[in-house]
Amino acid sequence: MKNIVLFGPPGAGKGTQADFLKDMYNLVHISTGDVFRFNIKNKTELGLLAKKYMDEGDLVPDEVTINMLKAEVEKNADANGFIFDGFPRTESQAEALDVFLAEKGEQINGMVALEVPEDALVTRLLERGKTSGRTDDTDESKIRNRFNEYNTKTAVLKDYFDAQDKYYGVNGLGSIKEITQRIAKVFDAL
Ligand code: AMP
Repeated sequence: MKNIVLFGPPGAGKGTQADFLKDMYNLVHISTGDVFRFNIKNKTELGLLAKKYMDEGDLVPDEVTINMLKAEVEKNADANGFIFDGFPRTESQAEALDVFLAEKGEQINGMVALEVPEDALVTRLLERGKTSGRTDDTDESKIRNRFNEYNTKTAVLKDYFDAQDKYYGVNGLGSIKEITQRIAKVFDAL
């Protein structure tokens, strides 16, 4: 299996790129943000819980997120591999993912990180907010809080994967196609 963490701050383009890459490499794309939004739309218990956090731009608690992620992986038992988009976002999530995959005789092959400066990200998110219908994309203070969550809890995962020699940084500025090609070079080598 090829199991890849697609990493980067909010607005880096993870979802857009994962959409192309999943077809190119026949992988299952799991976006924890998308799963939460699906649950919110369908008014499930999980959705109601997640909404409180997402609306503020806060991370959803680890235990809830980890259990949901595991369930999504289990739903795709015959997958060729996974692109994890928006997960892990904390060190506990990364550790839980490592243990969970190891139990299956699997592992993360690499973390591919889209590197984009924060100024460009705010502009992208506000632009996306005009059409995405995402309340967390329309309010600059919520966007800032998402960056704060990213910088304080998520950015450390670079070191976590680097320590395992699994961190691959990719320049996330340019056309969508150019960026896909850059990521594909890394995927091919994993
Ligand atoms: P995203 O679509 O990846 O930008 O995620 C949108 C929101 O969903 C985040 O701001 C969090 O509130 C929540 N979320 C998504 N993935 C996670 C995660 N791995 N851990 C905690 N919260 C998450």
